[in-house]
Amino acid sequence: MADSVQQIPAAGTDVSDEIKQFDVIIIGAGVTGLYQLYRLRQIGFSVRIFDDGGGVGGTWYWNRYPGARFDSESYTYGYSFSEELLQEWDWKEHYSGQPENERYLNYVADKFDLRRDIELNVRVASAVYDEVENRWQIQTEDGQRAKARFLIAAVGNLSAGYIPDFEGIDSFKGNWCHTSRWPKEGMNLVDKRVGVIGTGATAVQLIPQIADEVAHLTVFQRTANYCVPLRNGPIDPDWQRRIKASYPDILKKCTETPGGFMHQFDPRSALEVSEEERLEQYERLWAEPGFKKWLANFQDIMTPGEANEDYAEFVRNKIRERVKDPVVAEMLVPKDHPFGSKRLPCETGYYDVYNRDNVLLVNVREAQIERITPNGVETSEAEYELDVIIFATGYDAGTGSLTRIDIRGEDGQKIKEKYSGGPRTFMGLQSAGFPNLFIMPGAGAGNFTRGCEPLVEWITDCIGYMRENEFTRISATPEAEEEWTLYVSQASENLLRTKANSWFVGANIPGKARVLLGSPDSAPIMRAKRSEIAANGYQGFLLQ
Ligand SMILES: Cc1cc2nc3c(=O)[nH]c(=O)nc-3n(C[C@H](O)[C@H](O)[C@H](O)COP(=O)(O)OP(=O)(O)OC[C@H]3O[C@@H](n4cnc5c(N)ncnc54)[C@H](O)[C@@H]3O)c2cc1C
Repeated sequence: MADSVQQIPAAGTDVSDEIKQFDVIIIGAGVTGLYQLYRLRQIGFSVRIFDDGGGVGGTWYWNRYPGARFDSESYTYGYSFSEELLQEWDWKEHYSGQPENERYLNYVADKFDLRRDIELNVRVASAVYDEVENRWQIQTEDGQRAKARFLIAAVGNLSAGYIPDFEGIDSFKGNWCHTSRWPKEGMNLVDKRVGVIGTGATAVQLIPQIADEVAHLTVFQRTANYCVPLRNGPIDPDWQRRIKASYPDILKKCTETPGGFMHQFDPRSALEVSEEERLEQYERLWAEPGFKKWLANFQDIMTPGEANEDYAEFVRNKIRERVKDPVVAEMLVPKDHPFGSKRLPCETGYYDVYNRDNVLLVNVREAQIERITPNGVETSEAEYELDVIIFATGYDAGTGSLTRIDIRGEDGQKIKEKYSGGPRTFMGLQSAGFPNLFIMPGAGAGNFTRGCEPLVEWITDCIGYMRENEFTRISATPEAEEEWTLYVSQASENLLRTKANSWFVGANIPGKARVLLGSPDSAPIMRAKRSEIAANGYQGFLLQ
């Protein structure tokens, strides 16, 4: 039997005698959790969300660093479930920034009266499955307890911030923060010596925003990235009208593409056209905004091989053109992974920053960071004196936010131990031995909301089906889980996404198993597979 009574509160915490009861508990009030609450409430379930943020929005509540914004077109990222919402909300920029995104999700929470079922500033410490009652009991860090038949972990694929275990962080005399915990009141960087550790998508957004105001900026780079121009801009009234009139078309396009974006690959091979035609397309797409140069390009650029390398060289030359000092330019040119094998950072003024006198780029692959000192950062070659350190060091993606909760299923099995060799799930939905726990969504590579809406709808239908048919327990079978886990490892072998040491495969976290986080299948295939599972009476799951 599960050791449901052995939940240990944090030291000094009073555990409440009251145990609140719900049909469903959701952890997380981001894009996923909010929509899941809306859907389940619509079909009459009692639901409670717990979120450790001080407001709704998840990613868009936490990531307040300067420059945080979409790289999805705003109007393809917003929810599609309400025509009224689509028509009411005016996205102000093609790639909207964090403040507006947070406002949007607050607007959604108010419009659909979601707040009355959301508890904020509450961190779920543990979740234990009680086999006798067939219910999950969660306990929060502040000592609250609650039970529900179903538990939905909408805890975010990029929400468990990661800071490398540098010696001496606590000795640092200045201010420091991780970008995902940027304080609401901001960081005072004016005339300060600032260090940014990391050069992934976050740093690429942040660095150009702060280079102007700081006295000096030191950027510590381990891996150079391919970054492409975002070319953001305001949405004028005419565009706004056109977007609103074309939502059916925009959303249809998104359902047809592999990653839920509105860009369709060019079905031709980059290698079958003339060099002139190839370059013309590269340049034309380069001048366009957002991910087009990635996702509307020749299809074989997205597979490892000659076409990919040809385009990679085109991008490398674009970087070389932007950076005046050839030595610095070569440091910024990626040579150790294929183009598109990491989530592609979109930039606005990023490379130009390195032409400034107050910016220094330090290669920490050659001279590793050895420790944080009271005065700054020490590498194997030098000490860099700093007033502020910003850790743009990313996330323990996909599984991190789950394994940071003490989740115990049947026989007290811990999810953290179950995932020690990589996530073991059936279709990223459930793990065997953890009945009625839906984990969503594994680390995705696509346009998030387009992937999350159908998933939320599938789970809602599943729970509704169980009620109608008087089932109270759903559990992925060990066989289905084994088959899917094997499929993920085999099918991902040739994917571009597994060809870099990135968070897509957990490679940014020391000791984490190197496995594709998420699905090797495209969004349309995943939707079709899930529909088939449901149509076959939830094949791969045991219903009781
Ligand atoms: C800076 C940034 C930019 C991004 N830009 C894009 C983009 O342009 N396009 C795109 O498609 N995707 C983008 N993403 C991916 C993004 O994660 C998703 O778009 C989306 O916001 C995830 O929503 P979610 O609700 O699943 O999770 P989240 O938004 O991460 O919400 C999960 C919530 O659960 C909370 N939580 C976790 N554990 C606990 C616990 N134990 N107790 C209580 N609460 C808990 C978290 O604190 C968080 O508030 C971006 C991500 C980041 C970080």
